[in-house]
Amino acid sequence: MDEVTGAQLIAEALKSQNVEYMFGIVGVPIIEVAMAAQAAGIKYVGMRNEQAVEACRLYSKFSARPSSLEMIPAVVEKAVRSSIYGRPGATYIDIAGDMVNAKIDRASVRFVSCCPAPPVSQADSREITQAVRLLRAAQRPLIIIGKGAAYARAEKEVRELVEVTGIPFLPTPMGKGVLSDDHPNCVAAARSRALLQADVIVLLGARLNWILHFGFPPRFSPHVKIIQVDLCAEELSNNVRAASALLGDIVAVVRQLLETVRSWRFPSDSQWWLTLKEKMTANAQISKSLALQSTLPMNYYTAFHHISELLPKDCIIVSEGANTMDIGRTMLLNYLPRHRLDAGTFGTMGVGPGFAIAAAVLEQTQKSAQRVVCIEGDSAFGFSGMEVETMCRYKLPIIIIVINNNGIYSGVDPKTWKEMEKMGDMTTIAPPVTLLPEAQYEQVMSAFGGRGYLVRTVEELRSALQESLDNTQMPSLLNVLIDPASDLFNYLQASRISIYFGAI
Ligand code: ADP
Repeated sequence: MDEVTGAQLIAEALKSQNVEYMFGIVGVPIIEVAMAAQAAGIKYVGMRNEQAVEACRLYSKFSARPSSLEMIPAVVEKAVRSSIYGRPGATYIDIAGDMVNAKIDRASVRFVSCCPAPPVSQADSREITQAVRLLRAAQRPLIIIGKGAAYARAEKEVRELVEVTGIPFLPTPMGKGVLSDDHPNCVAAARSRALLQADVIVLLGARLNWILHFGFPPRFSPHVKIIQVDLCAEELSNNVRAASALLGDIVAVVRQLLETVRSWRFPSDSQWWLTLKEKMTANAQISKSLALQSTLPMNYYTAFHHISELLPKDCIIVSEGANTMDIGRTMLLNYLPRHRLDAGTFGTMGVGPGFAIAAAVLEQTQKSAQRVVCIEGDSAFGFSGMEVETMCRYKLPIIIIVINNNGIYSGVDPKTWKEMEKMGDMTTIAPPVTLLPEAQYEQVMSAFGGRGYLVRTVEELRSALQESLDNTQMPSLLNVLIDPASDLFNYLQASRISIYFGAI
C-alpha cells in the first residue's frame, strides 16, 4: 500500500494547482505541512506576523474544512479556482490538526488537476451602444482606472482607449501604473476638480467606495453619468445608478468599446482640457514649492521629492501609513502596471512588509533586478516591523523607508516630550497620537544584519538611498526624521486647497 499523509496531500494538491510559494508561521502540526511543501517543490517563506493570515478567514470568498483526507485535493482546487474566478480574492481552508499526520492509501484519493484559466465574458452589446452614445455626448468625460484594470492585465487595451479617444484619466491608488503616471492624459494632479466636474465617467474596475467618495456630491456632480465596467454583477450600480452597466472582463469590454467608438475623439482644445491643465499647473507649483523647502526637519514633500528623483522607474513601491501613504501616492510616480501595493480598500495597516517580502521573493526567483521599496509611516511600520528579521533571513534586498514624524498623523519633538514627562504621568498627558520621539527604527534592521541609516538631512537621505540601491545583497532601512508638525502644515494646505476649490 502506498501511504500518504494529510500534510503530503495538502502540499501535492497545492503543487498541482501551480502554487509556487507558501507563506506561513510554523508550530505543531504546521511544521509537517511546510516541510511537505518544500519536498513537493514549493518555496516556503516563514513569516513573523500571523494576524494577516487569520484575517483571511473573515474576508475570504470561500472557506471550507475537508471532511476527510481523500477530499483535500478537491477542496484545494476549489479554493484556488474560487480565488481567481470572478472578482479575485482570498480563500480559506481549515484543516483539522489530526489530519496533518494521519495516513491513507494514495489509491483512495480523488486527485484533481489544475483548474483552467478564468473564463472571459463580454458585455451586452446594447449596453455598449449606450455607453458610446453617452461618451460621444460628453462635455467633460473622464476615465477612472481602478485596480481591476491592473488585475485584468488590461494595460494595452486601456492605453488604446485613452489614446484613441483623447479622454483624461485618473488612476485609483492601486490602479496607478496601468498607464504611466506621466502619461499626458493623466490628470491625477487635478484629481478633485476632475471628479467634481466630470459629466460622464468610465469606471474601469474601481468601486464607488470611500476611496472614490462613494460617487456622491459634494465630491462628484449629482448629475454625473457612470459607465461602469466590472466583472462582478453585484457591484454594478452600487451607490450610483450606472447609466451604462458593462458586465464583463475589462480587456474584453474595452475592446468592444474600441470597436464601437471607432475614430471618435474628444477635442484636446476643449474647455474641459483647459480647466484641468490649469489646475494641474497650479497644484504642481504648490507641491514644488513645498518640495524645495530647505528648512530642517524636512517636510513630507521634500523627503518624497528626493526619494522620487533616485528611485528606478521599474521599482515596486509598497506603501502604508496615513500622510505617508497619501502624500507618497501623489509624489511618487508609477510607470508600470502592478508596481504599487498599499493598504488597499480596508486601509489595513501592517500589510506593507508582508507585501514587500512577497514581491522581493518573486523578484529574487525571476532575477529581474527590479527593486522593492517599502515606504512606511512610523506608526504603520510598528505593526509588522519584526518582518525585518524575515527579510534579513532570506537576504531580500528590500529598502524600507520609514517616514518618521514621531506619531500617528503628527507627533512632538524630543524637547516637548521631555517637558511633558516632567509634568507627570504620561498616560494622562501624552497626546494619543504621539509615539516616542526620534525612535531609532534603523537599529531594528541592523540588529539582524541589514543596513540601518538615521537620516535628518537631504544629503543624508540621498546618500543613504543611493547606497541602499547599490546594495543588492541585503535589506536596508532608512529612518527619515521629518518635522513632527509637518502633518499640521499639510492640513493647512489641504484646507486652503479646498477653500480654493469651493470658490471656483
Ligand atoms: P480600487 O481600489 O482601485 O478602486 P476596487 O478594489 O475598489 O479598486 O475595485 C476593483 C473592481 O475591479 C472590483 O469591483 C472587481 O470586481 C473589479 N475587477 C477585478 N478584476 C476585473 C476584471 N478582470 N475585469 C473587470 N473587473 C474586474
